[in-house]
Amino acid sequence: MDALTEAGPLAEEGLLADVGPLTEEGLLAVWEAGRGQDPLRRALVLAAAGGGDPAAVADLAVGRREELVLGLRVRCFGPGLPCAVTCPSCRTELELELTAADVTAAAPEGERVARAGGFELAFRLVTTRDLLAVRGAPRAAARRALLRRVVTSAVADGLPVAAEALPADVLEAVADALAARDPQADVRLDLDCAECGHAWTSPFDASGYLWAELDAQARRLLHDVHALATAYGWTEAEVLAVGPERRQLYLELVTA
Ligand SMILES: [Zn+2]
Repeated sequence: MDALTEAGPLAEEGLLADVGPLTEEGLLAVWEAGRGQDPLRRALVLAAAGGGDPAAVADLAVGRREELVLGLRVRCFGPGLPCAVTCPSCRTELELELTAADVTAAAPEGERVARAGGFELAFRLVTTRDLLAVRGAPRAAARRALLRRVVTSAVADGLPVAAEALPADVLEAVADALAARDPQADVRLDLDCAECGHAWTSPFDASGYLWAELDAQARRLLHDVHALATAYGWTEAEVLAVGPERRQLYLELVTA
């Protein structure tokens, strides 16, 4: 059994409700909630649909949020993750058949502490609330603000130092340490091109991936609802109440 479908640490912490795959109505509700939202808010919608407490998902570490999303993806569509990528060197289109295991990071390692430039720092993991708070700022400023937010204590020469007073290179030490403490927050895939042999690293965004799938599925579903509602005068609920197989047959009859 895939590790993602088992009761993991999230369930032990009471963060993971016992949720199954999305129903068609559920899928449309999630789609409606995420539609028109930016990618961060969409990721929160998906994590909540994946069993996270809607009131708490913004305060989960980003890796935990992505774990919930990936779990939902596996329950809805299975563990296979077909991807199309373009080789950055020879521009060949490559078809990849990844699995959820390929994009599940190793367990977090190490304590949430860092040392740099004579400073001893303790930090917490980055949450979606942090990312929302700094977005809109120029990239470098947003990065510094984000790192300052997650520093919980800084000490130099035995004296506490305010996070606002930390130099940029010291903050970068926190950034380096964060990657190992929350690897699921930034999944990187090692890819190589079958045509030219070029090797490169590509990020994998579970929320973006699942959203694209849900968006396509919701649009197909609504298209079918439209066709059958128009043909038979059924309501949306009546169309959805007809199972997918019978619905497909009706669609064939309508378009024949
Ligand atoms: Zn290539």
